Amino acid sequence: MSGYLLSEGELLLKNTVRDFADKELVPRAAGYDESQEFPWENFKGLAELGLLGLGIDEKYGGSGGTSRQVAIVGEEIARGCASTATTVLAHLCLCAHFINMYGTEGHKQQFLPDLATGKKVGAFALTEPGAGSDAANMQTASKRSNGGYLLNGTKTFITNAPEADVFVVMATQDRSLRTRGVDALIVEGDSKGLTVNTLKGKMGIRASSIAEVVFEDCPVPEENRMGGEGEGFRETMQVLNASRIAIAALCVGIAQAAYESAVNYAKQREIFGKHVADFQGIQWMIADMATQLDAARLLTMRSATLRDEGQPFIKEASMAKLYASRAAVELSDRAVQIHGGVGYLAPTTAERLYRDAKVTEIYEGTSEVQRLIIARQILESDVF
Ligand SMILES: Cc1cc2nc3c(=O)[nH]c(=O)nc-3n(C[C@H](O)[C@H](O)[C@H](O)COP(=O)(O)OP(=O)(O)OC[C@H]3O[C@@H](n4cnc5c(N)ncnc54)[C@H](O)[C@@H]3O)c2cc1C
Repeated sequence: MSGYLLSEGELLLKNTVRDFADKELVPRAAGYDESQEFPWENFKGLAELGLLGLGIDEKYGGSGGTSRQVAIVGEEIARGCASTATTVLAHLCLCAHFINMYGTEGHKQQFLPDLATGKKVGAFALTEPGAGSDAANMQTASKRSNGGYLLNGTKTFITNAPEADVFVVMATQDRSLRTRGVDALIVEGDSKGLTVNTLKGKMGIRASSIAEVVFEDCPVPEENRMGGEGEGFRETMQVLNASRIAIAALCVGIAQAAYESAVNYAKQREIFGKHVADFQGIQWMIADMATQLDAARLLTMRSATLRDEGQPFIKEASMAKLYASRAAVELSDRAVQIHGGVGYLAPTTAERLYRDAKVTEIYEGTSEVQRLIIARQILESDVF
C-alpha cells in the first residue's frame, strides 16, 4: 500500500516486518514447502519481534494493537511465506484472540503470556468430518461429568494441531439446540484422551501443519469453559468475523508476492529480441494484476479500519476475504503464466504461490459461505 494510506507508525511496522520477511522468511520458504516441516525458526523469530502478541492485552504479555496492525503484519508475513502466515494467524487470531476476547481473568493469566511470546502454540478446533460450512451440525459432545466435562468426538483439518499446547475447542451439550448448544472450551494438548493424527499431502501451504484431533472421554474442567453455557457458537462467529480480516490480508500478501515475481521476471526474460514486459499482452496482465492487488488491499484495510473504529464490519470483512482470496488465486495463476515453462516447476516462487493460494478460497469460510454472509447482511439491513 502506498505510504500515504498508512500512518507513520504503521509504515514503520510494515517495513520492519518486510525486512524480517526478506531476510528470514523468503529464503526459507521453498525449503519448508519441500520438507513440509512446521516452520519453527520463523515462528520463533516472529515471537522475538513481539508479533505473536499483537492484539493481546499488554498485561497478559501481548503488545496490544489494532486490526489494521494485524492486517499489515499478516500481509507481510504471507508475502514472505504463506505457510508461516497460516500458522501464525491460526495461533494468534483464532486461539489467542479467542481467549483474549472471551476468556476469564484466570484463563488470560494462565494461557496468554505463553501464547503471546510463542512459548506455546495455539490451535482452534471447530471443523469436523460432517460439519465444515455447516458448523452447527457438530457432533463432538461435551457431557457433564464430575463437575466438569467429558469430551468425545473428532475434529479435522485443525491447523497447528500436531504442535499445539493449547486448543480452543467447540463442543455441543445438546445437538438439538444447534448453535445454542455449543460450549467453547480450552483443552490442553497433553490432556488424557486427546489424540492427534497428522494429515499430510496438502496441495499448498505445506509447512503449515494440520491434523485430525480425536477426543475419547477427554476430561475438561468446568472452569475451562469460555463464556456462559451454550454461548460458544456466538463467540466463534465474533472471532471468525475478526480473523477474516487477517486472512484477507494473508491473501493480499500472496497476491503481492505473485505480482512482484511476475513483474521481475517479465523485466528480465528476453524472447524475440525483447523483454517479456515489452509485449502489450503482458503489460495488460500486469496492469490488471496491480489493480486487483490494490483493490484487495483497500477492501482489507477498510474492514480493519471499520472494526478498529467500532463500526459494523462483518459484510466488509467477508467482501475483503472473498475478493482477496480470488485475487491471490488469479494473480498467482498470472504469475505462473508470465514465467512460461519455468513457472510450472519448483522451486519457482510462482509455482509455490499458485499452490498456496487455493486454500484461501476454502478455509475460514469458503467463498460460497462469504457470499451467504454478504447477502444476509444486505438483505437483513434497511440500508443497502
Ligand atoms: C488447510 C486447511 C486448514 C484448516 N484449518 C482449520 C482450523 O484450524 N480449524 C478449523 O476448525 N477448521 C479448519 N479448516 C477447515 C475449513 O474451515 C473447512 O474446510 C471449510 O470451512 C469448509 O468446510 P468443508 O471442508 O467441510 O466443506 P463443505 O462444507 O463440505 O463444503 C463443500 C462445498 O459446498 C459449498 N457450500 C457449503 N454450503 C453452501 C451453501 N449454503 N451454498 C452453496 N455452496 C455451499 C462449499 O463452499 C464447498 O464448495 C481448515 C481447512 C483446510 C483445508
